[in-house]
Amino acid sequence: MYNKGLLIVLSGPSGVGKGTVCKELMKKYDYKVSISATTRSPREGEVDGVNYYFLDKDTFKSKIENNEFLEYAEVYGNYYGTLKSQVEEELSRGNNIILEIDIQGSMQVQSVFENAVYIFLLPPSINELKSRILKRGSETESSFNLRFSSVSEELKCMVNYDYAVINDDVEGAVEKINGIIRTEMSRISRMNLEKFIGGYIF
Ligand code: 5GP
Repeated sequence: MYNKGLLIVLSGPSGVGKGTVCKELMKKYDYKVSISATTRSPREGEVDGVNYYFLDKDTFKSKIENNEFLEYAEVYGNYYGTLKSQVEEELSRGNNIILEIDIQGSMQVQSVFENAVYIFLLPPSINELKSRILKRGSETESSFNLRFSSVSEELKCMVNYDYAVINDDVEGAVEKINGIIRTEMSRISRMNLEKFIGGYIF
């Protein structure tokens, strides 16, 4: 009944909990989340090919030159990008796929995929966001300042998204996002109705 899978873009400020929410969406509802490539060093516990494809700068740049990215951006001094191969394969199989990417990347995707669903994840408050970044314990003072200084600019970009979800508790945010995706899948414009009831109506 569906032509193709749905592309869902989830963005929001650093530390808002996008990673945790995505992990739960995969676990609870079996959603696929694209594995990005990055030049940032792995944090403790992160695994290559699971959390990210960790690449050196030269390899990343050669992939840019070979046009292998759907989008890429320099975020907080490192490159991050979504490989076209990850997304195209899932969509063509009819699977939904979630991109957990920053706002610059989301704008690039918007110029290519007008039918994607754009969701912005918000913290319950700015103070809570600050304490979540600090709790993660992986930032130096300067990298914390860099991440935190862009928050107000990032929040202004929310108007370019379709939905905003407040991540006050992970379970609640996951339920809301699942609800949004289910609703979007029921849009008549996304359904191959002609194939389904063509013999009766069209
Ligand atoms: P982190 O270093 O905390 O894992 O990610 C830093 C920022 O990069 C986050 O806002 C995250 O959403 C974003 N990011 C992760 N993967 C990608 C990607 O493939 N493309 C873009 N544009 N941003 C990404």
